[in-house]
Amino acid sequence: MHSQADPTSPDPRDHSADDLASQTSKSSTEQRKEALTNGTIVVKIGGSTLGDHDTTLEDLVALQKRGNNPIVVHGGGKVISQWMETRGVRPRFVRGLRVTDAPSMEIVVAVLSGVVNKSLVAEIQALGGKAMGISGADGGMLKATVADQDLGLVGAVSGVDTSPIRAVLYAGYMPVIAPLAVDCSESPTKNSLLNVNADTVAGKIAAAFGAYRLVFLTDVEGVLDSSHRLIPRLTERQARGLMHSNVVAGGMMPKIEACLAAVSKGSLAQIVDGRKPSVLSEVLSGGSLGTRVG
Ligand code: ADP
Ligand code: MG
Repeated sequence: MHSQADPTSPDPRDHSADDLASQTSKSSTEQRKEALTNGTIVVKIGGSTLGDHDTTLEDLVALQKRGNNPIVVHGGGKVISQWMETRGVRPRFVRGLRVTDAPSMEIVVAVLSGVVNKSLVAEIQALGGKAMGISGADGGMLKATVADQDLGLVGAVSGVDTSPIRAVLYAGYMPVIAPLAVDCSESPTKNSLLNVNADTVAGKIAAAFGAYRLVFLTDVEGVLDSSHRLIPRLTERQARGLMHSNVVAGGMMPKIEACLAAVSKGSLAQIVDGRKPSVLSEVLSGGSLGTRVG
């Protein structure tokens, strides 16, 4: 990098042509960086949506080529379960929720930030995109605390540092983020890796960027009502009502919470069917698909 004059320091050669030139170039670099994070789109891809027929990765590459800068967050629960099974790590449950003990966590880290993350990066690049895979642990991006001692190494995200993501964007790559965080509490698990919910991570990142769009690609049409009909638009109040009455449950709950968190920071948030071809392009060109939350 070339050195640049600090515009805030006094300079006896006030208003020299050199200074003006360097100030102009600094501000244009800053402007270029700003532009890269303006209109940010955060896309969460579910483990289940990456089937043989969807065009999610093609759509992401097309977005990148058009100059939009998607930030991708992925899950991987299904692959983790398969690995646990084949390696004989028996899942343990407390109140119906999976416990992440140390042997399970090794698999979570290996699968999320290794197998799933690098496969996505390789596929995006094979399609002509430029991608860089990082986890929430990299560069201290995601800070968390243990959510519930009984559930082991599962984290609640307490802070997001967007600088590692910006660094990847500024370098011209699509960030592909695996949902891991580092325990920043003063508890005995301090500095351990924690497994965090990918939906929550997508919501926190969208909120931290004030992202223009947050899109969840999942394996259903959108949020369904008690008669299994698609709900095109949900207010916060309606969303909370559906969660309270258990019409919205399981994997749909963290998506809705994440949408509400991002909407409160100005995002437009949608949950759409990632199995449909070209759904991402359609959503971004204004098509009213799936469910808009907030
Ligand atoms: P992903 O891999 O996209 O995170 P999840 O399985 O975690 O997928 O979440 C989506 C699932 O949420 C749906 O397949 C469905 O089983 C469940 N779900 C619970 N309540 C609802 C609802 N009201 N509408 C749609 N899906 C719901
Ligand atoms: Mg899920």
